[in-house]
Amino acid sequence: MSEILLNRAAYINNLSKICAKAGGKERVILVLKDNAYGHGVDLIACEAAKFGVEFAAVKNETEARQIEKYFKQILILSHLPTGKESEKFIYAVNDISNLNILKHGTRVHFAIDTLMHRNGIAIDEIEFACKTACQRGLRVCGAYTHFRSADEVSSDYFVQRENFKTAKELIMKFSGESKENLTFHSHNSAGLERFSKLDDELVRVGIAQYGYAQFDDSLKLERVLSLYADRISSRVLKAGQGVGYGGKFCAKEDMQIATYDLGYGDGLLRYDGVGELNLASGERILGKMSMDNFSAQNGGERVCVIKDARIWAKFFDTIEYEILVKLSPNINRRFV
Ligand SMILES: *Cc1c(COP(=O)(O)O)cnc(C)c1O
Repeated sequence: MSEILLNRAAYINNLSKICAKAGGKERVILVLKDNAYGHGVDLIACEAAKFGVEFAAVKNETEARQIEKYFKQILILSHLPTGKESEKFIYAVNDISNLNILKHGTRVHFAIDTLMHRNGIAIDEIEFACKTACQRGLRVCGAYTHFRSADEVSSDYFVQRENFKTAKELIMKFSGESKENLTFHSHNSAGLERFSKLDDELVRVGIAQYGYAQFDDSLKLERVLSLYADRISSRVLKAGQGVGYGGKFCAKEDMQIATYDLGYGDGLLRYDGVGELNLASGERILGKMSMDNFSAQNGGERVCVIKDARIWAKFFDTIEYEILVKLSPNINRRFV
């Protein structure tokens, strides 16, 4: 049966490097949204907690509940306010109107719009937001921003850092909270690689923990996930015969081929038989991928399909995040 193997030593290596760069385990928020970027959230959360990280971030309350037993603090990044928020979690405020709906007593982090214009409270709304939060009995316990181009060499990053500095000062002034009670964070994985001095902030790290550096790999991260498929049949494809839908791949001479138990129904992007896409173990995929199978040159009972998601990302003109996050939660996963 196809499965995902997670390399424990690699994951611990990555956590150690990230925590060292951030200045301690207590300075790291691990982003575990979307099934821990397709790695398997329960396995990853358990390992991260054992390692000693106490703060995680996820997309919504459903995801937060899945990991609540592992972490002291969980930040929910994309919550839609209901008025029934849990006291166990911290909620991001992505829009100033959220403040009118969130339940009295809810702990919040303000998302601050410092340039990305995707989510958050504008700098000139901070005073009003702090006052509204206070009137509504919300507990402002932190704030963060997201860099729109941390992974590109541009001045945006520096502009946003300056804007966030201003935001922090305004929040300290108007929230009525002491500095010690406020948690600030802005750097994602690419940001973590970029900074040399982190001020008084935490980092919010997703992809780096899974082993994908965005710059020069000075952190020496290691890939955590590899995806395997098992052979369900094999045959000789005779010269002139085509394999799979439409017979897209046609054998020039007799060749030994095999079909494996993985396809686009398992979350792989669908290879349509055009261009050359090879498995991590080297064999070429032949013809169009099916929902639950693909055919390839016979690589034996088990082949490694993905070890470096960037190879698939490059082929499909996307980013490794998308390749990883789409891997179906139904694929069996385990640490080795
Ligand atoms: C997903 C996400 C992150 C993590 O980004 P990486 O590039 O994976 O480190 C950080 N912050 C926010 C707000 C996010 O949505």
